[in-house]
Amino acid sequence: MNMESENKKLLEHEKWEWKDFMYQEIDFYTSGIEVLNNLNCGICVSSLEGDRILFANEEFCTCLKNDADIKEHLLIELEDGKSREVYLPGEDRWFEIHRREIQWLDQEKAELYTLYDISENKRYQQRIERQANNDFLTGLYNRMRCEKDLEAQITASKKNGSEGALLYMDLDDFKHINDGLGHQYGDVLLKSISHSMQRIEGIESNCYRMGGDEFIIIVTENKYEMLDEILEGIAGIFSKPWFLKGADYYCTMSMGIARFPGDGDSVQDLIRKADLALLEAKKSGKNCYEFYTDSVKGVSFKRLDMEKNMRDATMNACNEFEVYYQPIVDVTKSENPCIGAEALIRWNSEKLGFISPAEFIPLAEYLGLINPIGGHVLRQACRQCRVWNESGYPDYKVNVNLSVVQLLRNDIIDQVREALEETGINPKNLTLEVTESLAINDMERMKSILGQIRELGVRVALDDFGTGYSSLNHIREMPIDVIKIDRCFIEDLGQDEFADVFVRIVCELANVIGMKVCVEGVEHSRQYEILKKMQIHMIQGFYFDRPMSAEDFSRKYVTVQPMPLKQATDRL
Ligand code: C2E
Ligand code: MG
Ligand code: MG
Repeated sequence: MNMESENKKLLEHEKWEWKDFMYQEIDFYTSGIEVLNNLNCGICVSSLEGDRILFANEEFCTCLKNDADIKEHLLIELEDGKSREVYLPGEDRWFEIHRREIQWLDQEKAELYTLYDISENKRYQQRIERQANNDFLTGLYNRMRCEKDLEAQITASKKNGSEGALLYMDLDDFKHINDGLGHQYGDVLLKSISHSMQRIEGIESNCYRMGGDEFIIIVTENKYEMLDEILEGIAGIFSKPWFLKGADYYCTMSMGIARFPGDGDSVQDLIRKADLALLEAKKSGKNCYEFYTDSVKGVSFKRLDMEKNMRDATMNACNEFEVYYQPIVDVTKSENPCIGAEALIRWNSEKLGFISPAEFIPLAEYLGLINPIGGHVLRQACRQCRVWNESGYPDYKVNVNLSVVQLLRNDIIDQVREALEETGINPKNLTLEVTESLAINDMERMKSILGQIRELGVRVALDDFGTGYSSLNHIREMPIDVIKIDRCFIEDLGQDEFADVFVRIVCELANVIGMKVCVEGVEHSRQYEILKKMQIHMIQGFYFDRPMSAEDFSRKYVTVQPMPLKQATDRL
């Protein structure tokens, strides 16, 4: 068709009028029905009272297959010109129903219903909502949904004069599992924990993953009286091991609890307070829960300060962290000579003053800052030891504490090797102190890491032995050189038979397997006398000296000695 005839047709088209069709000689009724039956929406006309269906097209009959559906969904109060959405569970479909009052045959008043199948749109919308509200990995609700639900719960409890609780949960040492086994196993663990949480009665649909290994649980006003059972249920999840990568792993959690509206009546305030209580729980040794109280407030505001200041101090070349040294003496030799020192970190914060390691190390581990801080201590201590070694004390040794978080990093061996190379210290003069942790059920991995450390020529000491999860059997399996018996046994020496026997047995056992024993926390001559009779090698404690700065240590224990004569003549 050329352009001219096309335009002509269009012009003609514009002149067309509706009446032209009305009076065409066609069977309008038949064709009209045909049109209505082929429409993509359901149409139905019913008497105004709704007791008679006057007309329904095919689509309508397919949409609402049975009478009950029709009665239930059409006889709803719907104003003229209005619409509403209905869901048919039997068919899993959504419809939008419009109602209009019309004049039917013989001027009878009737209702016209139009039905649109909106199932596709509805499903799409639900998918989008799910994506916006759910955590992709675990399927739990996410932070956004948590805040929305919490807002509603706080409002409800204020209105009804009731109470609810916000539980903020963080897995303990999850990093170990992630770093040690790989992220895919970390993910498996997160999923398993999430599923178990959703099975606890009372919180099935109020568990949220806030990101990483952090979860929130809202105990709503109608479940608040079940709080104790809920806490027991959660603790129960973590009392059993998880089977990952062919072995059983324990994972514990710490939790902070804030109640609403008493502790806070805004979403942000409550979450922050539960988080502060959580930090307190971590500080109390993890694997426990802590309620938010006003005293938590005092300590924890300082803690928040600490977090910021610790980050700044770490960024700032760790200048505020100073390494102190506590002498270790050899009690097998006469006059108990000093044979080296344990490096103990001190934080002299410009803003917060002096903070003890017991206070900030757990937070540094929690924040992952222990890696740069620990690396700093390692290099400082090696450098210092080399100075002493070159000042006439070639056998002085330095002990450096390694956190489990550092130990399980993939690059820990490289870090130690680099520190040795950079500082030029003789590897045998470095001892790394490690503690056992519940999370390291993977003995094989632990053995392999410690074995590699020893291959560098560095020694390994098992710190705080007797506390935590160390067992006598472990010391036989683990590649270690020194056992450091924890201070708590020494405190009771001479007063508690168990403490006496424990120290003696560990010493005897260590001798049999060729390990050395160092005893920490010796404060009194009474303790020293008892220990002297046992087969102890080394002692560290206030009885001999306290930790001190490098200068003080050097002044006291490293007096520059004249070179031995033989060595001096060799040089000539
Ligand atoms: P630790 O490794 O068991 O260190 C021994 C702790 O006992 C030190 O506390 C020391 O000052 C204290 N101590 C020594 N002798 C006595 C005594 O006779 N009586 C009493 N009451 N205490 C004594 P400090 O320096 O406060 O360190 C506490 C803990 O912090 C250390 O326990 C260690 O676990 C950790 N820590 C210290 N420095 C570092 C570090 O550089 N890295 C890591 N990861 N942890 C560190
Ligand atoms: Mg130590
Ligand atoms: Mg110790």
